[in-house]
Amino acid sequence: MDAEMDRVYYCGASSTLKTCWTDENPGKRFWGCGNYGKEIRGCKFFCWYDPPVNARSKVVIVGLRRRVAAMEKERKKEKSLVILIIVVVFFVGFILGKIFS
Ligand SMILES: [Zn+2]
Repeated sequence: MDAEMDRVYYCGASSTLKTCWTDENPGKRFWGCGNYGKEIRGCKFFCWYDPPVNARSKVVIVGLRRRVAAMEKERKKEKSLVILIIVVVFFVGFILGKIFS
């Protein structure tokens, strides 16, 4: 650790272990200061916790994350459709009940 890193490390805020989800470092954990990136009293303390992500793992993890995101989006759409169908069925049932009663 160089002198500057020591200095910024002792800014007073605690560092927490976080997980990076960029395409370049998917799932790679790092220590980041609670003041990292803040406009006022910002701190630059940042330190990788995990070793570099293997090139093949990067491709696989990024691909899987994209598939999960696409499936979650699809599932959300399906849930909305099911709710819409339930509302329509109850509404039609209510109208038919009024007509034939
Ligand atoms: Zn700090």
